[in-house]
Amino acid sequence: MINSTADLLFIFDFHYNPYVLFSLWAVLISSVLLYLIVSKGIQVSANRWFAFVLITIILWGLFEALNRFSATAVSSDFWNVSAMIGWAFVAPAFLGFTLTYIGNDKFLTSIGRQLLVFGPAFVFLFLGWTTGLINNRNIEQFQRVFYGWESPSASFFWLVIAWIDGLFIISLFLLIRHWIKVKDAVKKRQTSLFIVAVLIPIVGGSITNGIMPILGMTVFPAAVLLTSVMSLIVTYAILKYKLFVITPATVVSSIVDTMHEMLIVFNPNYVIEFVNPAVEAVLGYGQEKLVGEPLSKLFEGNWEDVREKYLDPVYEGKTVSGIDLNLVSASGEKIPVSFSASALKDLKGTTFGIVGVATDISKIRDLFSDVTAERNKLTTTIESIADGVIALDFAGTVIMTNPAVLKMLSLSEGDVVGKNLDTVVTMTEDDRRIKFKDLITKRKLTEDTVIAQKENIKLNTNFGKEAYVNLTSSAIKEGSEAGLGAIVTLNDISKEKEFEEMKIDFVSMAAHELRTPLTAIRGYLSVLQEEITAHLSKEQNSFLDKAFISSSQLAALVENLLSVSRIERGAMKLEAEPQDWKGILNEVVANYTPLAKEKEIKLVLNALSDLPKVLVDKFRISEVLSNLIGNALNYTNAGGSVELSAEFDKKNNTVITRVKDTGQGIPESALPHLFTKFFRVSGVLEQGSKGTGLGLYISKAIINMHHGEIWVESIEGKGSTFSFSVPIAAELTPIKPKTEGAKPKRVFVRKVRAESKVLA
Ligand code: ADP
Repeated sequence: MINSTADLLFIFDFHYNPYVLFSLWAVLISSVLLYLIVSKGIQVSANRWFAFVLITIILWGLFEALNRFSATAVSSDFWNVSAMIGWAFVAPAFLGFTLTYIGNDKFLTSIGRQLLVFGPAFVFLFLGWTTGLINNRNIEQFQRVFYGWESPSASFFWLVIAWIDGLFIISLFLLIRHWIKVKDAVKKRQTSLFIVAVLIPIVGGSITNGIMPILGMTVFPAAVLLTSVMSLIVTYAILKYKLFVITPATVVSSIVDTMHEMLIVFNPNYVIEFVNPAVEAVLGYGQEKLVGEPLSKLFEGNWEDVREKYLDPVYEGKTVSGIDLNLVSASGEKIPVSFSASALKDLKGTTFGIVGVATDISKIRDLFSDVTAERNKLTTTIESIADGVIALDFAGTVIMTNPAVLKMLSLSEGDVVGKNLDTVVTMTEDDRRIKFKDLITKRKLTEDTVIAQKENIKLNTNFGKEAYVNLTSSAIKEGSEAGLGAIVTLNDISKEKEFEEMKIDFVSMAAHELRTPLTAIRGYLSVLQEEITAHLSKEQNSFLDKAFISSSQLAALVENLLSVSRIERGAMKLEAEPQDWKGILNEVVANYTPLAKEKEIKLVLNALSDLPKVLVDKFRISEVLSNLIGNALNYTNAGGSVELSAEFDKKNNTVITRVKDTGQGIPESALPHLFTKFFRVSGVLEQGSKGTGLGLYISKAIINMHHGEIWVESIEGKGSTFSFSVPIAAELTPIKPKTEGAKPKRVFVRKVRAESKVLA
């Protein structure tokens, strides 16, 4: 220990030893590296950290050299503890370098973390100087060895070594993780060099300077030298891959070279001093063609104007930005540009030049006019089409609409655009409210998609306007980026609807009006038939019969028309109750037996197996049966047969009934139209049948109201089988009437006498 000024002189008691050269060699390497790094730029924080690492190694090497130089144990002790100033900081400094290199510069900005990394170094340094815990300070135990001085390890020396190795291992771990993550091949190579480098002090240095001395073995302590090798590799990796040797000047020059904007620097005499490569790319002039030339070369006749208006003010200190100008290219073409300029001033504030930046906007202009033309075309189309168009965003706000919508709803644009669709209009489908959410989708679309298609939608505005539309909502796949939730088109069917209703009203009214006189005519005719037949000739009697038959047919038509109008209004009601199906079939067949006999057709009801009760409106379902049996008898010649059968369909919980005839059959082409209104197979008229073409339409509507189905199989010339299903009563679902066609406006229930089809 040094206790006096006299002692102080002893620390300079040197004696040459060739091993000193190793330490000095490390100092030399690190100093050169430090110079290289600093001269390449230490603006980058990773470089700064690495410079710090190098400084610690230099200090360490320098003190180690002096230690080895020492002629006495006193001197060796002094330089030995001094060397800690260097080696205690190598590992934390390297960790700082690693953290910034992997992009985690922020980590060491907090004081807490700085303390965590550097605190122990200071503590160790302090203990190293003041106690014998880290360095052996007992000079009696110092021994001269070949490279200098050596003494047994102090009791806590291992702790410092463990801490240093720990920090290096953390750096190693971070570098390996970075190596795995990083994609760029150059960065990967650089990182792998760092990994190799950091392994050297961890393995080599800690063995020779840490572990072996702790174990009491004498080897040449090569840590400084090995750590310098680490620095050599790191420096190589930094310089070779240049990754963070960036100076403002290199940054600026590479930006200027690669930027798309044209950069033109000119002096106060408006002579061009510098242009970047973009100028050649856009205007076609090489650098040599412009530098030294007057700026006016780039302008056509309007140069004086441009100078006065935009450039002279720049000299006076104003900046211009984003002005639209035309520059003349080498081929004489006018290139539209957006131009900005600012003055270059020296320290005294005198303008010595102007930097102008010009962006070629010809492509943008073309694009802009294309887009404008497209938009105008689209707007005109949308404005002129008869269908309503509404564009919605994802929150249901109307972004755009067309005059058709405004007319349909009697609203002005201000009432609609910018408002939420649900507040503009109430849309209902069969009494169910449709909201904007039903018309858009949150799903990511890969193609343009129709989201919803709805018919017969009622629209109501707050101002009492009502309209009926068929609605289609579609979304485009770019919708989510463009904020376009859906495009809703509305096909106004209010007129058709009104017309349809008028038609139904008219038919219904006419049928009602016909009914009373017809009943009277038929009443009187039947009285005549009963009372005066005896007084009339055979021919007169046949006239009377024909008149009665025709009036009955007319009555049937009237009843059918009334049924149709009821169906279309949705006014036909069912009163479904559990019924014995066998009973109903027997009743209807019994009704038709006389007619069948008269026509010489065999009408049979096949023996029925046990059938469950069915849930039907007896009156309406009898109408269906009458219709089918009536048709079968009507379209079958004498000698043929009509056969009824019924079976229980367990799977569907229904009873299926079939009416099979051996009549003329139905051509295949007619089958799809059979159940539509007023459809009759052509040719039957000439055959003398007197149907109305409404029976099957009404039957289908009634069956559908029972939630059943009706279908036909037929072979022309051989016969037809009409089948239908009705639900069994066990399935206690109450039957809600299904509406056919329009919703009821006026609901009225009236029973129709069950004779509609008897004579048809
Ligand atoms: P219509 O009052 O004319 O019988 P429908 O609606 O009951 O009206 O029948 C429509 C048409 O279907 C009939 O005009 C007839 O051409 C054909 N049709 C119906 N049932 C049969 C059947 N059993 N055999 C052959 N054709 C039939």
